[in-house]
Amino acid sequence: MEREDLVESINRLREEREAVILAHNYQPPEIQDLADFVGDSLGLARQAAETEARVVVFCGVHFMAETSAILNPDKVTLLPEPRAGCPLADTVTPEGIRTLRKLHPRAVVVTYVNSTAAVKAESDYCCTSGNAVDVVRSIEATEIVFTPDGNLGRYVQGVSGRRLIIWEGCCPIHDGIRAEDVSRLKEEHPEALTIAHPECRPEVLELADAVASTSGMFRVVEESDREEFIILTESGLGYPLGKRFPERRFHFPSPEPLCPDMKMITLEKVERSLRDMEPRVTVPEEIRVRALRAVERMLAVG
Ligand code: SF4
Repeated sequence: MEREDLVESINRLREEREAVILAHNYQPPEIQDLADFVGDSLGLARQAAETEARVVVFCGVHFMAETSAILNPDKVTLLPEPRAGCPLADTVTPEGIRTLRKLHPRAVVVTYVNSTAAVKAESDYCCTSGNAVDVVRSIEATEIVFTPDGNLGRYVQGVSGRRLIIWEGCCPIHDGIRAEDVSRLKEEHPEALTIAHPECRPEVLELADAVASTSGMFRVVEESDREEFIILTESGLGYPLGKRFPERRFHFPSPEPLCPDMKMITLEKVERSLRDMEPRVTVPEEIRVRALRAVERMLAVG
């Protein structure tokens, strides 16, 4: 099918199925253009919680579709490519959390939203990169376990002043951004403001003028009078940034930070999933109910 025909078919099916299409900021441009809402994990979770659609088509990775299914047990959640996973989410298991709880029985467990539903079910709070600092600050307990992103944990520890017991997982895309490549980019673009995602390494964050989640990056750009920006996150963000701020210039490091899982969704797969109402993402009720508590706490903060 030609691209125009595919889009037409998706639009017709979207209406017939009473579906909403949600897309992450790192998705390919043609998917972002098609979506009813484009955003970061927190924004998408909020949309998933508020939608009145019967079907949610999640254009992102598996944990995001699971979060939508946790919030919407009565709706159908479709993930057009079921193999789209997240290597960071895979670094922590429910058993890992239970072991940490045995070692730190009084600790409160905060888990980044980039985690499986089963891990969320073992956690007390969820957070996103956008509200992790506020979530940690809202907790009174003296012992806090933070999983699974070590770089984000160290950043939150530094900003909040709270000592965290940190799980050493990482996002290979953000962790792969090297300080020497950033320094070179800064030399090439001395007028640019550098904005880094908190999943980057500490030495990369030290080179940044601002640290922000992907939606936070839009705010930093909006409030800045600079014309050029160095953006230290997955390069898919260049598309929505360019659309919203066509008069500004955005530079990404080389080698390009590119998440292959985020690029697995295609127009063909979206069309097929709406037509067949497959592949569906479901969460067993016993896990869903426990995970929901942590996710609702995340949505309540910040
Ligand atoms: Fe996971 Fe990193 Fe890809 Fe996001 S960019 S889905 S955290 S591997």
